[in-house]
Order: sequence, then C-alpha cells, then structure tokens
Amino acid sequence: MRAAVWHGGAKFLIEERPDPAPGPGQVVLKVDTVGVCGTDVHITQGLFPSTPPLVLGHEFSGTIADVGKGVPKRRVGERVVSDISSHCGKCDNCREWTISRCQNAQRTSGALAEYAVGPSQSAHSVPEGLDLETAALTEPASCCLSGSFMFPMPKDAVVLVIGGGIMGLFTLAFLKRRGARTVILSEPVAARRELGRQMGADILNDPRSEDLKEVVMRATNGRGVHLAAEVVGKPELVARCVSLTRPRGNVLMIGVCPQESNLPSDLYDFHYREIGLRGAFGRGNYFKKTLQLLPELNLKGVISARYPLERAYDAIYDSGQGRGVKLVVKPNG
Ligand SMILES: [Zn+2]
Ligand SMILES: [Zn+2]
Repeated sequence: MRAAVWHGGAKFLIEERPDPAPGPGQVVLKVDTVGVCGTDVHITQGLFPSTPPLVLGHEFSGTIADVGKGVPKRRVGERVVSDISSHCGKCDNCREWTISRCQNAQRTSGALAEYAVGPSQSAHSVPEGLDLETAALTEPASCCLSGSFMFPMPKDAVVLVIGGGIMGLFTLAFLKRRGARTVILSEPVAARRELGRQMGADILNDPRSEDLKEVVMRATNGRGVHLAAEVVGKPELVARCVSLTRPRGNVLMIGVCPQESNLPSDLYDFHYREIGLRGAFGRGNYFKKTLQLLPELNLKGVISARYPLERAYDAIYDSGQGRGVKLVVKPNG
C-alpha cells in the first residue's frame, strides 16, 4: 500500500509499505477520509512531541477490509469510523476518569495511508444515512460534546463561544442542543460566522469591528453570560471569557493553550464572583454518542477541501494557515 510518511518538519514522502495484516482482535480498514487536526499541524511545526518516521492521521473513516482472529467475519465490508484508541474498562482511568484516557489503550495505526489497522473495538459502525466523509468528523466533534457536558446548563442560559473553527462550531451546536437559549459566537472570519449561524448561533460577533463586551452585556442585561467557552487556545481569550461571565458562571477551556502558559486573570475576581473554570480534553465517554448525533447537525460546507494522499502535507500546511474550516485527505482517491 501507499502511505504518506512524515520524516520530520515539513518532509513527507509517499512510500510503498506492506499491506497491514490484522492481529487477533484487530481489523484492517480501507481508509476513506482522514481529517486534518490541529495536532497534526503542531507535530509538523515541532510543537507536539513526536518521533519520525511516522504515519500521521487519527480522525478517519473507512471500510473494514479484513478481520483478525476473534472478530466476526461479517464485519468485513462494514462502514466504520475509527476511534483513536481502545479501552479496557477496568483500569483506574477508565473507571474514575474516562475511557478515552485508558491506561491500557491500544492505538490504531496512522491513517494517511491506503490502509490502517487497529482494534476491532475502536471501529464503530457508521449509521445508515451518514456518509463516510461526515463520519470522519466524529473524533473532533466528540471532544466538543464531551466538553459541553462539563457544566450544568441553567434554564434560559446565555452562552458565549469564542472561536468559530471546527471545534468552536461543534461546541456551539452541542451547547445549543443542551438547551442554551442564546448562543453568541465571536469569530473574526465571516465564512466561519455564517457556518456558526447555520449550526445554531443566535448572535454573531466580529471582534474586529464590534466590541464583544458590549454585545455580551446587551444580551444579558449587563450580567454577563452563564457559560463561556474558549475554543481558540489563547490565555488572554480564556481571561476574556472569565471577565464576560456572570457571578457563579462557568468558563470552559476547549482550545489548547500552550504548555506552561499562565492565565492573565485577577484571582480575586474569580474568588469574589465565584467563577468556575474547567478544561476539556479529548473524547471523554462520548465517541459513540457523537456518531449518533452527527446526522442531526447541519454540517453542510464544514468540509472545505479534499486532498489526495500525495498532497497530505499541503492539507496540513493549509490547515495551519487557517484555510477553510475542516480539510480532509482521501488516501484512496
Ligand atoms: Zn484530532
Ligand atoms: Zn482502561
């Protein structure tokens, strides 16, 4: 098979590799669609520790091409989306934290290749009526669904989402589904704001032309929002969320702030106004649930561009440049 192998930095080579064979309990997937993720961008920029040579790509869908010992033969031909890793259900993390942080997890191989191999448990059947391309969005969407359940949703809540990339869009859609009355999206790129409207945002803010604080205070009688989600990954925007949240309000961190960064907030303000702050990382226990919810979201236009395997690096580079919303690679054309 052909694979786009990362050799460090911006260097990718298309290499011929042996077709993967399924071990016991494993399935081989013919890859359909691979989503480019911020993590892939960070790896090629040296901001996320990884050792080349490596086949990247962890958000993907495909068809089961072969099964190993112990996996029912009838799974061959099944349309599936792959979770990044499996879970044991027994370790401390599985029991006390989430199954996506399993200490005995087995990972699926990198998907920027014609075929990938991984645990049968991680290959989730795609529901009838959901196309494989959209299904490939399950992983990023599940991080947002998991995040949306970090805090209770008060009745008639006004919610602020800062950042309208793919994660911000999913976050606002799920917070709206959870019962937020009004969702404010703050995002400088017009096309993303429009997608925000399509996915459930009620008020759109372009922070370059309109003061976000004014928008928030107008929508909340000067009290601030009940819940603010930062989906960019900038400490100053997390602090902005804190300042725009009402007493006993909550701030949700979905964006990935740089390691060792500090929060430029007044801790007295946190204490005095009893603000809650919580991070949300990864799929939690929501991968399967997300797959069931995807058909109910209006995702038209969220996938902005498709690249062949030969252009895998272009997809990663363009994604890093903020081009479009979600870019995908199609390893089998
Ligand atoms: Zn990802
Ligand atoms: Zn476990």
